[in-house]
Amino acid sequence: MMDYQLNVPAILRRADELYGDREIVSRLPDKSWHRYTYADFVSRTKRLAVALRGLGLSDGDRVATLMWNHHEHLETYVGAPVGGFVTHTLNLRLHPDDNTYIASHAGDRVLVVDKVLWPLATQFVDRVGFEHVIAVGAGDTPDGAIDYEELVASGDESAFAYRDLDERSAAAMCFTSGTTGLPKGVLYSHRALALHALTAAYLMGVNEGDTILPVVPMFHANAWCFPFTCCLVGAKQVFPGPHLDPESLLEAFEQEKVTLSAGVPTIWMGILQALDATPDRWDLSAMRSMTVGGSAPPRAMLEAFGERHGLKIVHGWGMTEMCPIGTMSGGPGQELGLSTEAMYDKRAQQGTAIPFVEIRARGADGLVPWDGTSMGELEVRGPSVSSSYFEAPEAADRWTDDGWFRTGDIVTIGADGYVEIQDRSKDLVKSGGEWISTVALENALMGHPAVAEAAVIAVPDDKWSERPLAVVVLREGAAATDGELRDFLAPSFAKFWLPDRFEYVDEIPKTAVGKFRKTALREQFASATPVENV
Ligand code: AMP
Repeated sequence: MMDYQLNVPAILRRADELYGDREIVSRLPDKSWHRYTYADFVSRTKRLAVALRGLGLSDGDRVATLMWNHHEHLETYVGAPVGGFVTHTLNLRLHPDDNTYIASHAGDRVLVVDKVLWPLATQFVDRVGFEHVIAVGAGDTPDGAIDYEELVASGDESAFAYRDLDERSAAAMCFTSGTTGLPKGVLYSHRALALHALTAAYLMGVNEGDTILPVVPMFHANAWCFPFTCCLVGAKQVFPGPHLDPESLLEAFEQEKVTLSAGVPTIWMGILQALDATPDRWDLSAMRSMTVGGSAPPRAMLEAFGERHGLKIVHGWGMTEMCPIGTMSGGPGQELGLSTEAMYDKRAQQGTAIPFVEIRARGADGLVPWDGTSMGELEVRGPSVSSSYFEAPEAADRWTDDGWFRTGDIVTIGADGYVEIQDRSKDLVKSGGEWISTVALENALMGHPAVAEAAVIAVPDDKWSERPLAVVVLREGAAATDGELRDFLAPSFAKFWLPDRFEYVDEIPKTAVGKFRKTALREQFASATPVENV
């Protein structure tokens, strides 16, 4: 067979040859809509690649982005690797100190930034010392920056050629703060992204007839590969810009007849509340599948979407280190022959390994059996799994001696290969030597009608060493007592699993990608002894 290079230029060339008339739509900061075709996108992306080279960049140089999801971000996201450079998406929700460290450690030479995010960028731009700052969108270009439109216009399209880039060279980069210590960089090869884009298309049945709105930001683990997947198959792309509130998203779903969308559970919880409040307001008849991932979705939410609104949620588990999808549940054909109850049970699990991702779980005494009850740390390997962090030798122990990546997730694996995440290893509660899954307790609590959100953490305990504490946000106007919540959980769990303490808060602190920030909860509650026990 030919030694054909699987790379991002091959993805763009396909879009160029086949999908010129497909649309790409973005919502601008002022809430107006920008529309153009793939032909426009391809032409501008080629010009950008040429113009970036003209700034003095060489192969492998990093092009950082600090942008919302929109067409210019897509152009940079694809244009940098097509030109031989590396797209490095910065997370706009991180602290400026973290972005300073991340951009410096990555060696970013250029920053492409939304003008509306300039106030955020100024907090770290000077500290990093980018050679070029390129400002995107309407409004004044900050002093010293290059206007993005002028840069694109300066690129000579006739100077562009599709390059046969080595598939093992780097195309993109993303940092994860999922582990302890400093954020770690993951470099994605062209090959990993091309294979993953194809796998994602297969897993979700994405094709030219689809209209896809990724709510998940491009800076969160590659927007789960959707930008590349869409370009590969010619799906219409709709970008929400900065408008991520439920109402704006629902408007976009209806107006653009979105068929597939993707986001973290927090996004879907917000959408569910909006739909529950006014079920007949939006026509979502075009929507065939909504992907959830990033943290565990409560089963009650999956069921509510299906039973109350006829909307199907597909569930994926993944990691920044994995391009990012590792397992899927609820994909085409996965639920054949299941009763409704069994279907939601399965869909709430993280699912089976995707093609070319191998899985196994390791407990204290070695690999655990696939019996649905033995817990162990999930280990993975495959062509879309990172083999090391970027310049972080101190984290080499995240890989086993035989080359598998230790995910840090504690799971069970069923005889049918279904993975169920019980916890992050550092979030587990170990009570009297027994493990308690905080994820299982949270999901169950979020099935209580009065509970909007619940996070469970371990708190030190003299007798049991650790006990679970539940931090609860009640729905507006709803009430519940500790006793009621404990009684609600009791039928589903062993007695020692039931939280001893409940704390009620207005909001659960979230990480930069919308997950519960359990470290903050532990700081707030772990040492505080409840008044009645003093
Ligand atoms: P990140 O790299 O920031 O996306 O974080 C990856 C981690 O998020 C995983 O190791 C899991 O702990 C968690 N995670 C991602 N997807 C899921 C999911 N579907 N269910 C439960 N946890 C998840």
